[in-house]
Amino acid sequence: MMAGATTESAVAGDIAAWPLGPLGIVPRGRVPRVGVLGLARSGVGAAQLLCSRGCEVELFDVCVPEEHALEVDALQATGAIPQFGPHDPTALGHLDLLVKSPGIRADIPFLTAAVRLGVAVISELELAFLAARGPVLAVTGTNGKSTTTAWAGDMLREAGLAVQVVGNIGRPFSQGVLEDPDAAFACEVSSFQLEDVRTFRPRVALLLNFTSDHLDRHGSLLNYLTTKLRLFDRQEASDLAIVGPDDALAAAALGRGRGNRARFAREDRGGDGAFLVDGMLVLRRGNEVTPLVARERLALPGPHNLENALAAALGAAALGVSAEAIARSLENFTGLPHRLEPVGTVRGVRFVNDSKATNTDSLTVALASFAEPVILIAGGRDKGQDFRPLFPQVLRAASLVILIGEGADRMAEHWAGVPMARAGTLEEAVRLGFTMARPGHVVLLSPACASFDMFHDYEDRGRCFRTAVARLREECS
Ligand code: ADP
Repeated sequence: MMAGATTESAVAGDIAAWPLGPLGIVPRGRVPRVGVLGLARSGVGAAQLLCSRGCEVELFDVCVPEEHALEVDALQATGAIPQFGPHDPTALGHLDLLVKSPGIRADIPFLTAAVRLGVAVISELELAFLAARGPVLAVTGTNGKSTTTAWAGDMLREAGLAVQVVGNIGRPFSQGVLEDPDAAFACEVSSFQLEDVRTFRPRVALLLNFTSDHLDRHGSLLNYLTTKLRLFDRQEASDLAIVGPDDALAAAALGRGRGNRARFAREDRGGDGAFLVDGMLVLRRGNEVTPLVARERLALPGPHNLENALAAALGAAALGVSAEAIARSLENFTGLPHRLEPVGTVRGVRFVNDSKATNTDSLTVALASFAEPVILIAGGRDKGQDFRPLFPQVLRAASLVILIGEGADRMAEHWAGVPMARAGTLEEAVRLGFTMARPGHVVLLSPACASFDMFHDYEDRGRCFRTAVARLREECS
């Protein structure tokens, strides 16, 4: 505990509550000096939290990002010291701690200098964790993190708990802690954030799945997996470690920490966990089996969302949420925007926005989510993916594929034989899809590509799809 003598007693109270001890930071008889490196969303959140706890904060970035200029101004107004421009390692020596944004590589000279000088470097995740008092349910994996985190948050809320849904999902953990340190935290964790943790110990740690994403950053598959598994390392017997249906992954993950173990799967795997048994989602703990809801009553479609639902239910139950509250959320959760999001029905044709589907895995699960014939709108910035393995699914599920963007040519080549059309814009694709559809069909935007060739980001693409559908609906009413 950092409880050194301070000049102002009001500040001293805050510092006493600031648990830097687990990081091995020795009190030096003064207010802690903490640098924040990288002033994007999580850096700004970390700086706000540190300022509120009475630390002396220094803001490091090459320049102030335009979208956070106002917040950075406000931080400076409350006494944070700007250190903008090229990073200068000589500015590091007097710091007790450096909080680094997850986007910054650990091997840049500024950070290696910090380590050489004995300055502890931690992630915003760790900082917020140290300051939080409520329980943390942490979710990681390759796919489904945001959905599962939000769904677990919804279950906690349904149980009447104060909840903060935070992390990679868009709202920094620090901000949630600033608002309510005693809340229950549903926290989406990326592997980048796990690179710099030392004490992070979630009450519930949930690893959904693992496929080969982000290999550019982590160097190898093994590194990437090892980073994700750090989620479990600090868990104790009162904590719970949850892993999905992948047995090899479970073997690698469970047993790293000392937490209890549970699994989730679309079939009964025995042991503690959440499973689908005779069409019913159930929780099992020891000999006790608790039914939740029938599968067909689940709020979100597709086998992948069944897994997300089971995972979220297991996590929420571990934090004391009743089966009734979990069941209500399982039936009523509205899902997140841009992930198989229903955006309207026009003359019996359903439009679904899955703009977040930026890779082939996401398109695969989207196509498995509909019993109806699908008119698929796909394409965008081509990341060099192999679309050929999807050919059988596309052929089976899609009565027509409308291609847009830079990836169109390669998709056309890889899916030769599937009925296909081209459109110059997304709006044109929506209109063409509607013209070709019959009542009962689904027009699905699930691009399997990045959006940057035609849009600012996937959200911009999803909004454009929604607008096009709204316009169509107006014209048809
Ligand atoms: P993440 O936060 O990990 O990117 P999201 O919840 O935002 O995950 O979902 C992103 C996309 O990943 C969705 O559009 C869906 O296609 C796919 N997805 C969601 N859950 C799963 C899952 N459990 N397994 C495989 N794919 C999934």
